[in-house]
Amino acid sequence: MQNLEDYAKKNGIVLQGEGPCQFCGAPVARGVFECHSNLHHIAAILDFNDPSCYLTRFLSVDAMALQHCELHGPWNNHIHLARLFLIFEKNIAWDYAKTPLLSNIINQYKKNKTAFLMPPPLQQRGRITTSDLLNAYNSEDCKEIVKQWAKEVYDSFGMHHSLISSIAGVFIRKYYS
Ligand SMILES: [Zn+2]
Repeated sequence: MQNLEDYAKKNGIVLQGEGPCQFCGAPVARGVFECHSNLHHIAAILDFNDPSCYLTRFLSVDAMALQHCELHGPWNNHIHLARLFLIFEKNIAWDYAKTPLLSNIINQYKKNKTAFLMPPPLQQRGRITTSDLLNAYNSEDCKEIVKQWAKEVYDSFGMHHSLISSIAGVFIRKYYS
């Protein structure tokens, strides 16, 4: 949790340990801390070392990061949103080797730029949250809920889809043409 607290502090945000998650709106009792601990539920159901679970892992990391933008570096949002774009809109079969390639492209893009993409307002980043993950009792349910969760979050960033499409276009031209 130390990392979370550091980034929140940098952004002038006090982490709240009571009530719904202040970032994603998850209807929990102990705020962002309980929201984060809900993630353990999917880690308990899925074997993230099994390649058939890789996609779910990427989607859950992206959904979580984009719903909690204030808790990591601002350029990470570009990476997470671009990855969701490539998975959902371009049907790219993501794997671990592709993330550093995408990261390089974002690093090129961000040179000489200071403007980050502005996330949607707090608690308006998709209606599905980590609380919904608790409804999964088997790996198939879990994969489906995570997919819906990531799609909701992706859609909530609709105002940035054209920007992210142009950044992801660089990735596609470089590796898929
Ligand atoms: Zn949350």
